[in-house]
This record gives sequence, structure tokens and C-alpha cells, in this order.
Amino acid sequence: MNKGKKLYEGKAKILYEGPEKGTAIQHFKDDATAFNNLKKSTIEGKGVLNNRISEHILSNLNQIGIKTHLIKRINMREQLVRLVEIMPVEFIVRNVATGSLTKRLGIPDGTILSKPLIEYSYKNDELGDPLVAREHIIEFKWVKSESHLNIINDLCLRTNDFMQGMFRGIGIKLVDFKLEFGIANVDGVDTILLADEISPDTCRLWDLLSEKKLDKDRFRKDLGNIIQAYQEVARRLGIIHEESNISTVKFGKPKAVNIKKK
Ligand code: 5GP
Repeated sequence: MNKGKKLYEGKAKILYEGPEKGTAIQHFKDDATAFNNLKKSTIEGKGVLNNRISEHILSNLNQIGIKTHLIKRINMREQLVRLVEIMPVEFIVRNVATGSLTKRLGIPDGTILSKPLIEYSYKNDELGDPLVAREHIIEFKWVKSESHLNIINDLCLRTNDFMQGMFRGIGIKLVDFKLEFGIANVDGVDTILLADEISPDTCRLWDLLSEKKLDKDRFRKDLGNIIQAYQEVARRLGIIHEESNISTVKFGKPKAVNIKKK
């Protein structure tokens, strides 16, 4: 499938023009960043795994009526997606308190929340993706209307229900995750689509019994065995098998890790 010009390059993905109007090709890189770009590395094979894991989750969400930008995976690193106008908000869903929530509020790490908690961050690297209230989103029109925000909240909760069950069935606790949404014209109608990716880069996934981290926190916290953890998630989801073609990708150790001092 021919790629058009590069539309956007992010930290972990590149977006190219797709073969038809309204489509794009999403390319998964091996680059990893954390702490607002202060920590950077290349993790060989990460893009291949995230492409497969995200395809698996988004296609399952499509099947239960949660509309996503995914059209199809086209190769080891790329997906054909609908081109959306992305909303500048990260929707964070939490089932267990950890990460920035515990730091911000002093809640003990691992506290189980009585119901899923949705938080919103304004997507802005210069400002460090600050936490915002619903009122900011509506006031500054980061989402079209209050009713769109309500619809997205419902989509977040449905996605959480589905993913919690899916992961629980394979012995993984879905601690928290980040979603992004966009608007696209689908058959003449402006439609809210779940966009970006859902992968161990964007979720916290803990082994149910040992609480071993199977996600990007292994990179953030220098825990090592990052690729092995992502492979474990893919293997449990039934996406890759011990002897699958994915193993032909050489999984090396992360290369240089740069930590810039402020
Ligand atoms: P926290 O706010 O605790 O750092 O992150 C909450 C959840 O959202 C985690 O699962 C984390 O991976 C995800 N998340 C939040 N912001 C980002 C982001 O900018 N990039 C990625 N990949 N994930 C994020």
C-alpha cells in the first residue's frame, strides 16, 4: 500500500497520508519517551508488538459497537486508519490509584477505586499535559459540545468494562489507561471515533497474581525486560505464539537512555 506524505510525527508513531481521501497510515516506531521527553530510548520490536496489540483491542472494540479509527492492519508496523481531527485531550481512566494520581494527591499506591475514575489532560507538551476540568474542555472548545463530552465519557467507561474483562480473563489487572478521540466524517456524518492506540505504552497492566508490571512503567522506572513484558501481553492475548513470525524480529536491550537535566 502506497504511503502519501508525512502528516505528523509523534513520539512513538508517524502518520502518513493514506491511499484514499479521509484515510491515513499509522506507523508504529520503536522509540520510547517518558517524563515529557526527558527520557528517550529505542526499544527494538516495540512498534511491531504495539501495532499487533492495538489492532487486537481496537478491532474487538469495533465489534462491540465502539467506533474506532482502525480500518485494518497492513503490515508488521502499519495500520490503515481513518483520518480524524484529534481532540487535544487525553482521557485517562483509572481503576487502581497509581502514577500521577498518587503523586498528586498522596493516595496510597495500589488503592482500589470504588468506581472507575476519569481524568482529563490537555494535550500540550510545552505545558506537560496538565490535568484539566470538564469545564476547561467545554469553555475552550477542545471538544465540540458538552453532549460530545458526555458521549466520550460513556465510551471511556464501556471501553474500560470491555478491557477489564478481556485482561482479567488472561490474568492481567487493568490498572489505568489513556484514550484519545477524534472526529471524522463517516458516510456524511460527523462521528466520534476512538483514535491513536491502546497498547502497553498507553495502559498500566499488572499481572493479577504477582502484580508484576507488564507495561511502559518498565521503561519509565528502569525495570528492564520491556520487550519481554510486551511479548507476554501479546502472548496471553493469543496474538503471538512462542514460535510466531514476530520472533524473527531481534529484540535487543534498550539503547542509549538520555536523561536531560532541566
Ligand atoms: P499517569 O497520569 O498516572 O502518568 O498515567 C495514567 C495512564 O495514562 C497510564 O496508563 C499512562 O500510560 C497513560 N498516559 C498518560 N499520559 C500519557 C502519554 O502522554 N502517553 C502515553 N503513552 N500514555 C499516557
